[in-house]
Amino acid sequence: MSVSISYDSDRRLTISGIRCDCGLDHRLPTQDIYVGSGIVKHTPAYIRKRGLGTRCVLVADRNTWPLAGKALAENLASEGFSVIRCVIARDGVMDPDERACGEVLLSIQPETEFLVAVGSGSITDTTRINAMRCGLPFVSVGTAPSMDGYTSVVAPLLLRSVKIHRAGVCPEIIVCDTQILRTAPPDMVCSGVGDVLGKYIAKADWMIGSIINGETYCDVCGDIVTGAIKKLLQNIDAIRSRSEEGIQILIEALLLSGMTIMIIGNTRAVASVEHNIAHYWEMMQLLHSHHPPAHGASVGVATLLAWPMYTRFAGEDLSKLDLDAIKAKRISRAQREAWMLKAFEEEAAQNIMRDNPDDFLIWEEQKRRIRTAQENQQKIRDAIALLPPYEDILAAMSKLGALLTPAECGIDTKLLSLSMRCAKDYRSRYTLFKLIAECGLEDEYFCGYPI
Ligand SMILES: [Zn+2]
Ligand SMILES: [Zn+2]
Repeated sequence: MSVSISYDSDRRLTISGIRCDCGLDHRLPTQDIYVGSGIVKHTPAYIRKRGLGTRCVLVADRNTWPLAGKALAENLASEGFSVIRCVIARDGVMDPDERACGEVLLSIQPETEFLVAVGSGSITDTTRINAMRCGLPFVSVGTAPSMDGYTSVVAPLLLRSVKIHRAGVCPEIIVCDTQILRTAPPDMVCSGVGDVLGKYIAKADWMIGSIINGETYCDVCGDIVTGAIKKLLQNIDAIRSRSEEGIQILIEALLLSGMTIMIIGNTRAVASVEHNIAHYWEMMQLLHSHHPPAHGASVGVATLLAWPMYTRFAGEDLSKLDLDAIKAKRISRAQREAWMLKAFEEEAAQNIMRDNPDDFLIWEEQKRRIRTAQENQQKIRDAIALLPPYEDILAAMSKLGALLTPAECGIDTKLLSLSMRCAKDYRSRYTLFKLIAECGLEDEYFCGYPI
């Protein structure tokens, strides 16, 4: 197993030498990802090098237009590109909803050859879905180191205020100019850090999934992500001061995390139960007409909530589990369905159960998992021992001024309790939270979250 990360003279980020015998197919990302200071002015050259054409629609919002969009549009025009401007102007937060998507769609002309997104999550996803549906390549010019989704192929969007996920395309070119990124508001920086810190939990869950269910764990992807988080934790002061060096470390961590998705074709290395909790909060807040905080802010808080469960589980003596008692406490399929409807509400519950048909376990399978956990308890402890101390994570987030509690995210105690208990049910992806429930320990571990 080996991998190296470097930049060429154009500041193009390169991952090379992926050698891994984990058994998964590994694909080297083919996108052009540029990170550096003052590089946005080279965007026309980057586009020409990639041969995307000369006629584009440039998408920005009220904040990103003056920040970078206007200058880029002028630069492109002076370099001979034909640019249609699509500035999505909203009074408050710009959502990636049907209206925003429609504005981009109606800006696209038959002769349009590519799209340019100037922004972070919402602008990029609004552009991504249009690129997909119109069969056009797109360029992402990042304006905030706030999430790891620049390299994503899925667009989280809003349709009639309900969160939906639609297939999108990855930008062919990503330009992250640290002079621009460092001007992002502090809460966007905190969001980026929160999204990265959650990956410690994702890694632990992945390893536990490989122990319990024989899932393939990829060392290269695990190491890429871990290396990026460690570097980030060592440079929290530089990130807090929003120096270009600090911001570069943060955006690298986000981009490298995103690149693991391209390498193995799924998000196993970067999202697990902490994302389930954050997604649940967001889903419920939108359902009840509340505006959720930035994605990574919720992921950071959810990471703090999940963390103690891992350290506690490492101290467990699983040989003492009483299998007969666990069996007697099992809920029926009908009881589980009732629980899903209570936790997720009708539409989401039905969707989740349809998409994860094997999530209700027969006793034989539950017993197998418990026995496997018992036989491999030391391996589980070793996986959890790779987590740094909780205090380090809390200190880093405190130093940055990140949100630290569910209340600060607008989550009341009822929703919090539901989220901690249903995070395991959000999808089939294996997590420690699933193992806790399978071992009959849910009421003990989550007694602080009564429902
Ligand atoms: Zn995330
Ligand atoms: Zn691998």
